[in-house]
Amino acid sequence: MDDNYKYIVSACLCGEKCRYDEKIKQVDNIKQLVNENKAIMVCPEVLGGLSVPRPQCEIRNGKVININGEDKTNNFVEGAKEVLRIAQKYNIKKAILKEKSPSCGCKYIYDGTFSKTLIPGQGITAKLLRDNDIDVISDEEFN
Ligand code: SF4
Repeated sequence: MDDNYKYIVSACLCGEKCRYDEKIKQVDNIKQLVNENKAIMVCPEVLGGLSVPRPQCEIRNGKVININGEDKTNNFVEGAKEVLRIAQKYNIKKAILKEKSPSCGCKYIYDGTFSKTLIPGQGITAKLLRDNDIDVISDEEFN
């Protein structure tokens, strides 16, 4: 039943190889939600048309720039819109997203200098979901 879905979750937390660096970052109790049909996994960057692997991206002055200096904002915005569309289709009101990502980061993101410097902030998808009254927490908060 469609109504069983309670959560949107970042696909990389469920063992999917969708990160820019193809690393596996599975969190077992989040994957469990998918196994139990309580969650739908999404990767906004892949939904936005980006490939795996892909150059690392960070948010700088409101735009998403990759490490080669290319503006990928449109891909991130389109991916976020697709995640919102899925959440609304299934009437999902909660999301558990991967902290620090320029799409999924909930409280912290990198500062746009590619120097591994974290600043308070949120990713493009996390913001769009929150702006549409979806409760977003990070994998770190969930655990
Ligand atoms: S953090 Fe979000 S955008 Fe990045 S790989 Fe995971 S699901 Fe995809």
